Amino acid sequence: MNAVNQCIQMIPLYSGSSGNSVFVQFDGIRILVDAGCTTKSIATALEKVGQSASDIDAVLITHDHSDHIKGLDVFVRKYGPRIYATKGTWRQIRYCEKKPHDPSLDYVIEAGEPFFVKDVKVLPFSTPHDADGSVGFRFFYKDRSISVATDLGHFSEEVKNAVVGSEAILIEANYDRDMLWSGAYPWMLKKRVDGENGHLCNLDCADAVCFLYRNGTKNFVLGHLSQENNTPMTAEKAIVRAMENIEAIRGESYTLQVANRYYPSEPVVLRVSDDGEIQ
Ligand SMILES: [Zn+2]
Ligand SMILES: [Zn+2]
Repeated sequence: MNAVNQCIQMIPLYSGSSGNSVFVQFDGIRILVDAGCTTKSIATALEKVGQSASDIDAVLITHDHSDHIKGLDVFVRKYGPRIYATKGTWRQIRYCEKKPHDPSLDYVIEAGEPFFVKDVKVLPFSTPHDADGSVGFRFFYKDRSISVATDLGHFSEEVKNAVVGSEAILIEANYDRDMLWSGAYPWMLKKRVDGENGHLCNLDCADAVCFLYRNGTKNFVLGHLSQENNTPMTAEKAIVRAMENIEAIRGESYTLQVANRYYPSEPVVLRVSDDGEIQ
């Protein structure tokens, strides 16, 4: 007899320096990673993918830059999900709050210390980025796992160890190094973006993708692209080329998509049967 299909979904709602929010669902458990757009636009995006903002169980915040927390204050007051963030991130969230919300919704997490949102185990891991307490997240559910890792100055050992073996990952492909250095950004900003605690360039992302692929990851979503210093096609090409060098063919041995900046992307779906068997 066929087991009942259960399902994990990851849908980037918005991605890029204009605002980030990723919807992840594990059967009936619904989580947002970041709320970096207005509450209204997040609610609209959720509707577009057949979800409701009032059904969100938890919002997990990666770090305190405005492209990740801009909509949080209103979202939590309107819909009341639990909020999980590190101590460093909470400081800025508090600073940005226009009105207080129910403090019983607030949870302080720590990199390397797993926690649960209902039946989903979440591992926050430190990310090399210029924000105090910046983290990414790996989710474990019924023997499967997915990760969200953006705002990475480099693909550090800590990030690598935390995400290796994930079946799907949203990973940053922020900029093309030539476009950045020949572009219009002020020199100090170029230095910041290209620095150890800035953002991940396409080539470093490609190295990370190859490493992850060799260790079992088969579904890749590129996210947080710079509007000025990258294009979806440039990012995609860099990754596809690097993967061809290790004889991995897009669409055959792995899937790849670029998360949309202003509207929801195609869902990444992993199915799990109720006996835990991978399909
Ligand atoms: Zn950031
Ligand atoms: Zn960001």
